[in-house]
Amino acid sequence: MPPATIAAADALFEIEVRPSTQPMTRAELRSGLAVFDGMMVTLGDVVTADLLQDFGRPRCKILANFGVGFNHIDTEACRAHGVTVSNTPGAVTDATADVAMTLILMACRRAGEAERLVRAGRWSGWHPTQMLGMHVTGRRLGILGMGRIGQAIARRGHFGFGMDVGYVARSQKDLAFPATRHDSLGDLAAWADILVVAVPASPETHHMVDASVLEAMPSHAVLINIARGDIVEEAALIAALDQGQIAAAGLDVYEFEPKVPQGLLKHENAVLLPHLGTACLDVRESMGAMAVENLRAFFAGEPVPNRVN
Ligand code: NAP
Repeated sequence: MPPATIAAADALFEIEVRPSTQPMTRAELRSGLAVFDGMMVTLGDVVTADLLQDFGRPRCKILANFGVGFNHIDTEACRAHGVTVSNTPGAVTDATADVAMTLILMACRRAGEAERLVRAGRWSGWHPTQMLGMHVTGRRLGILGMGRIGQAIARRGHFGFGMDVGYVARSQKDLAFPATRHDSLGDLAAWADILVVAVPASPETHHMVDASVLEAMPSHAVLINIARGDIVEEAALIAALDQGQIAAAGLDVYEFEPKVPQGLLKHENAVLLPHLGTACLDVRESMGAMAVENLRAFFAGEPVPNRVN
């Protein structure tokens, strides 16, 4: 955790800081649930019904997740065992949208491939048909999931790049910019030049972008995923890239993170970032401040501002 987050927690509670940056093991989570009154957990700390089943009511009464995505926590099982779960929405929105734009620009303009060319000393100089990519300004931007991050990406696309915005979400959105809601993901995929995945991971969104969605995309189109890896069926994406079904992919997240398959690594037109969405110190400090505030409110007997179960 950033030092400011540790200091904020330390000012309120008796704390123990786990120095490892690796996900907690099952044994660590089990003992944590038994020993601590509350835990700040994060991506990779997998809390399942199975883990909780030996506890009636664990000593740990709140899991304050550091991050907006909480698909690694079985929130229903937590509720059944009297464990409150909270997250950190909002703090992550702009930074993650910025990474989506990074991926859009890099994938469309072949920036990863081009940089590798320069670094390898293989650049022979400018010429009129060198490394032609897809012009980004004015394109059709399709957003799967018009929530906080989806809207922040759409705003950037509309106001910054003059894009036409289309989206799919569960509900109609009242937006401060023009955007057309499409009936289905297949329809959006067929329409968009750039399709961005911004839905949370859930049983309903698992493999939502599958072979049929990739087939619906035009061959010049680009797929971007900044949400969670398992929303895109990775094997189908690799097949689509192998067959030139789509022009490029830009990924911040992977189905079996941190494993990035050879099938993606071999493709020059796959831009591959290591889950950088919120990786700025001030953003991480804001996330930490929110998680600590959730803990403070809980132990003060107040409503937890970002409770999710
Ligand atoms: P959010 O505000 O809850 O927005 C989610 C959107 O997805 C909503 O528009 C929702 O529609 C839509 N949606 C949910 N289930 C759907 C379904 N089955 N079909 C169609 N649309 C569906 O969440 P957010 O703050 O934008 O965050 C989105 C996700 O981004 C997080 O859950 C997290 O996993 C990921 N994330 C990644 C990073 C990173 O580092 N790469 C950083 C932050 C977040 P309704 O509004 O109609 O319900």
